[in-house]
Amino acid sequence: MTNRRNFLKNSTLIAAGSLLAGKASEAKGAAAPVQTAANASKNFGLQIYSLTCNRNDQEFTNDVPGGLKKVSQLGYTTIELAGYNAEGKIGAVPMAEFKKYADDAGLKIVSTHVNPPVREYSKDNFDQIKEFWKKACDHHVAIGCKYIIQPGQPATRTTEEVAFVGEVFNEAGKIAKAAGLIFAYHNHSGEFARVAPEGTQQPAQGEGGNRRRPEGMKVIYDAMLEATDPSLVQFENDVYWTVMGQHDPVAYMKKYANRIRVLHIKDVAILGESGMMNFQKIFETAYSNGIANFFVELEGFSVGTQFEGVRGCADYLLNAPFVR
Ligand code: MG
Repeated sequence: MTNRRNFLKNSTLIAAGSLLAGKASEAKGAAAPVQTAANASKNFGLQIYSLTCNRNDQEFTNDVPGGLKKVSQLGYTTIELAGYNAEGKIGAVPMAEFKKYADDAGLKIVSTHVNPPVREYSKDNFDQIKEFWKKACDHHVAIGCKYIIQPGQPATRTTEEVAFVGEVFNEAGKIAKAAGLIFAYHNHSGEFARVAPEGTQQPAQGEGGNRRRPEGMKVIYDAMLEATDPSLVQFENDVYWTVMGQHDPVAYMKKYANRIRVLHIKDVAILGESGMMNFQKIFETAYSNGIANFFVELEGFSVGTQFEGVRGCADYLLNAPFVR
């Protein structure tokens, strides 16, 4: 999560965020969007990390069943989990219980974010990683999940390391497939750095790593796509982090239409307010590729409660004519 920290440290973006404060305050007092025939059947989900990421705002964590009902009332139809632990809980809530709360709220659990316990992959811990995925898959199949998605970037300093990560992802994909799940990988911006050939050092993040374009070096995201088996590994593209990595999510969706099958719909804060994300083009391309699952993610929201931010994002999608 180095990227998140670097992002928050970036003074230019904090300044941009503070300019949004006025708009967000207006949103707080705004009336709920009118449910019309056109938007009543819209289909978009929420990554629940959006409600648990702020330690000073535990409204959701303190009342998960009530919180999920609220999420549903805001217009979300699906959720993607975060906070899985090997004891079979989502945060402090046993998974079967969480599933019941989601059912009661009318929310479908489609996906989950799960990180293996190690970041440096090696032959020595390959078995440990495989065992982890087996257990995680068993836990998630039991609650009817479809996707099991790794959101954290493993160490990928050289072409060889990316190739090995590809091997590990393929194994995770096989384990997921055998369990009846689909394994996918979720990016931040670090994957848009270039991978250094063997024996050379990768440009460090935050020191121009994303901006360097040395000849002969490959974008890690492309290398990951190429190192993984399309029948075993899909990708959940976080459109915001792709833009922050100075790449175009639409171009990636067009180039890898059969690989990018889930999206994180994210902006600096409330969707649409920064003006830097072309959500119309993103949704149009996604629909034409047959992408069915979109998860809103809100991080770094500081001008209201997380629920207020999540509501602002839902309102944007409900009112956007290009969202189905
Ligand atoms: Mg994301």
